[in-house]
Amino acid sequence: MVDLSDPAGRFERLMSALRSRVNRRQFATWFRRVGLDRWEGADLVVRVPNLFYKEWLRSSFHDLITRAAEDVAGAPTRVGYVVAPDAPGTPPPAEADLGPDEGGEGDPPEVPSPPEAHVPTPFAGSGPQDAPLRLNRTYTFSNFIVGPSNSVAHASALGVAREPGRAYNPLFIHGPVGLGKTHLLHAICLEFLERCPRDRVCFLSCEEFTNEFVHALRHNQLEGFRDRFRNVELLVIDDIHFLKGKERTQEEFFHTFNRLYQTGRQIVLSSDAAPGEIPMLEERLVSRFHWGLVTNLDHPEMETRMAIVQHKAALHGIQVPNEVVEYIATTFRNNIRELEGALVSIRARASVTQRPVCLELAREALNGSARTNAPAVTMERILDTVCGHYQVKVSDLRSKRRGRSVSEPRQVVMYVARTLTNLSLDEIGAHFGGRDHTTVLYAVRRVADRVREDPAFAAIVNRLVDRLGGAPS
Ligand code: ADP
Ligand code: MG
Repeated sequence: MVDLSDPAGRFERLMSALRSRVNRRQFATWFRRVGLDRWEGADLVVRVPNLFYKEWLRSSFHDLITRAAEDVAGAPTRVGYVVAPDAPGTPPPAEADLGPDEGGEGDPPEVPSPPEAHVPTPFAGSGPQDAPLRLNRTYTFSNFIVGPSNSVAHASALGVAREPGRAYNPLFIHGPVGLGKTHLLHAICLEFLERCPRDRVCFLSCEEFTNEFVHALRHNQLEGFRDRFRNVELLVIDDIHFLKGKERTQEEFFHTFNRLYQTGRQIVLSSDAAPGEIPMLEERLVSRFHWGLVTNLDHPEMETRMAIVQHKAALHGIQVPNEVVEYIATTFRNNIRELEGALVSIRARASVTQRPVCLELAREALNGSARTNAPAVTMERILDTVCGHYQVKVSDLRSKRRGRSVSEPRQVVMYVARTLTNLSLDEIGAHFGGRDHTTVLYAVRRVADRVREDPAFAAIVNRLVDRLGGAPS
């Protein structure tokens, strides 16, 4: 019998409650090394082996632990974490896990295991977005359709993934939004990981790099920050144009770049503009970006667009007749993400109306005004609907204000706009005081992640989408 008057007994009970609430893998990874520091009254403090665990537990499992502890204690409980390297238990499994699979459906995504050899220092706003590697497993080279518009970028990316540090260093891929930059960057990492351990790769957006740098500065953690970025074989930074005007981050990146370059490590960067065309970027960085290979992605030609539509349709499991493929490829010329969005709308319409995909259905699905009696989905309607749900003012959402009460609805608006309209990231950002497209992209991803992980949140978002007259995502 467990003695619940004794903290150790309660803690034992808590552990078995947690064991039944997470999957086996998560338990082995995250809870076996957790110990009891103290449990006095309403305060429970658990010991964890390092800072990385602490951040993960806090960002991914805090609510779960708190609820379980309250169930055991039968009273409100505050849970805290303390790093104690002598925390009990066996080390977590060492196999690589790429973390949530953005393309997958079905099983809930697993929390990735912490890297063994190289424990990164946690940074601000830690959460799943700071997982050591978050790669979309569908963004592989084999899922990338090659045509004249992207063949050089594709070949260079492949070269770098196969011979990192030797083929071209750095590799700099630029081009307008929605043409596959991020896809190629993921593909490089995935290919590289076939042969190398995950802790030798670092993939992140420039916005994340910047935020983590600022956080490290503020909390005196520069050493940890530098260790993290200067000891990898492959550093991949998406949307490097985000560095514009950020002088200190540029300086820090300059040193990171030099260190990696001098030691023959591979650097891969993407940007919405060529190095020399990124405003307010130091000349010494511009010139370094030219040391390796600068290549661009162009708008794909009709045949490439058609091949992409066919390929994506197969990936999504949608049967699409040729005339519809042609129709989509003719309608969306500038942005591949829109081709994919079109397919999703068509599939939604086919399933709602229980009809097979044909040209007529595709026309209806892609022509907002043809939607049965529903008014067109505009940014204004999305803002009104979302703000109505969250009980916040539209003007607050458009303002620079931070804080969860405005940031969550703001991110939801961006996500819904991305789902239901053809607005580009920049156009969506323009509705929020000219926020950068990377900010919008980040918001869209965060909401997409949460929709996958949190059924209650998914229900809210789907209801909002429904109310706006679109098909649930
Ligand atoms: P960017 O980073 O340039 O804005 P992304 O890499 O996010 O663009 O690509 C947008 C979407 O288009 C992704 O779903 C990606 O898989 C798809 N895509 C882009 N280029 C191709 C291609 N050549 N073949 C297949 N899919 C592509
Ligand atoms: Mg991108």
